[in-house]
Amino acid sequence: MNTEILYRNNIFLIPIGSYLEAADEAYCLVYSPLAGKMLVADKEGLEELPDVLPELVVDGDASRLLSKVNAAGDLQKMSVLPNHACNFSCSYCYSAKGRSNVSLSQETLDKALEYFINPQRLSERHLSLSFIGGGEPLLSWPLVEHGIRYAHALALRHGFNLLMTLTTNGSIMNDGIIRCLKDCQVLPNISFDIIEEVQNKYRKHFNQVCNTIDKLCGSGLVPVVNATITPDTVERMTEMFQFMDTRFPKITDMVFEPVVSNELFATSGELGLFYDKYLEHFFAARNMAQMVGKNVTCRIFKNVDSLLTRGCPSKLTLTPQGDLSICYCISSPQEKMYAQRVYGKVDAKGVEIDEEKFQRINGINVYSFAKCEKCFAKWHCAGGCMCPNDLYDEEYLDEVCRFTKGMILQTLLQRLEERCKAEGAGGLREYCHFLKQNNLKS
Ligand code: SF4
Ligand code: SF4
Ligand code: SF4
Repeated sequence: MNTEILYRNNIFLIPIGSYLEAADEAYCLVYSPLAGKMLVADKEGLEELPDVLPELVVDGDASRLLSKVNAAGDLQKMSVLPNHACNFSCSYCYSAKGRSNVSLSQETLDKALEYFINPQRLSERHLSLSFIGGGEPLLSWPLVEHGIRYAHALALRHGFNLLMTLTTNGSIMNDGIIRCLKDCQVLPNISFDIIEEVQNKYRKHFNQVCNTIDKLCGSGLVPVVNATITPDTVERMTEMFQFMDTRFPKITDMVFEPVVSNELFATSGELGLFYDKYLEHFFAARNMAQMVGKNVTCRIFKNVDSLLTRGCPSKLTLTPQGDLSICYCISSPQEKMYAQRVYGKVDAKGVEIDEEKFQRINGINVYSFAKCEKCFAKWHCAGGCMCPNDLYDEEYLDEVCRFTKGMILQTLLQRLEERCKAEGAGGLREYCHFLKQNNLKS
């Protein structure tokens, strides 16, 4: 079948023969991400694809299914970075170059929140707001508390459903902070590398962070734990899950995010090897967690359930100096890409957005990269995250793409396996073997 017709209809053929212990081209996963459908076909089955095509094609304008932001006024996500200061000095810190004593003023924060939580600005009533670093937000607790309470009040007043999170390194926690987070239903996210010697190597303060997590769990405010996976932990993800499950049994949600760093990988080959290990051990840890009703996830895995035109949905990131940046990893003028990522300014007078610049930055999306055009991962990855895209060269980015596709394909195959089992077959291999033996096409 003409593959151009398939691409035009957003249908992708992914060779999966080697997964089924056959020649790689012997079987294909036929994947229609926009229709949310997939099937496995052997070579004969592919010839009959035109017969089933209508079932795989989305009726009408398929672009309506893709999540996209057209103007800054449509933005539903905001990140607030109160300062550039941090009491940790993690070796892989993405914001280390931006350290300074500049911090956000209350007037600026108020104006930004009034713009964000404003029923006249947008018709949507779902917003998300995170207080995050930059630096360590809890070093600016009076300002953060004010921001949380003010945002909560604005959301109540204007009928918004506001999801708030606070990301912290876990060094500071007390009853006053817990009370405020509970009052305003803020979900704490603790950055924690879990294994004691690893935490103490990269981030230090293991006991201090454990105490914070204990305090939160004890008060009924169960946090999400975010661990950065490095070459030191990539083969220890199941051990990390087991530790969390035993030491902090109330915690159900963990994010194991692969590190982005050009210092930890001397060559693109090293990065590729790291990603191969990550895939193997991430799924092992995830499966282990699922068995006890818990969740280990990461950004790309989560994206399999989204249809995107941009790798990371654009957001309003309020920097400590009152600028608006598109990504919270770029928040200081001392960072290389700052000028290219900032599209607005907030001060005591209000919010000013350079809409033309916003359009330019927001327009860096899946359509900007020739390599994405025929990629089966395109509507889940959408060109990827700006952080590795800015940091890595082409060879490294090829590894990022290989990893992204590997993560998405493995997730799809796992779903197919579950489906086969639910239908009484032992698994996908057995199911395909059965079809072959009985001369059934796909
Ligand atoms: S705690 Fe976060 S902001 Fe502070 S040094 Fe570590 S990674 Fe950077
Ligand atoms: S995996 Fe690579 S080629 Fe595919 S959509 Fe993502 S960035 Fe584009
Ligand atoms: S572009 Fe990447 S680093 Fe920046 S906010 Fe999005 S996911 Fe995070």
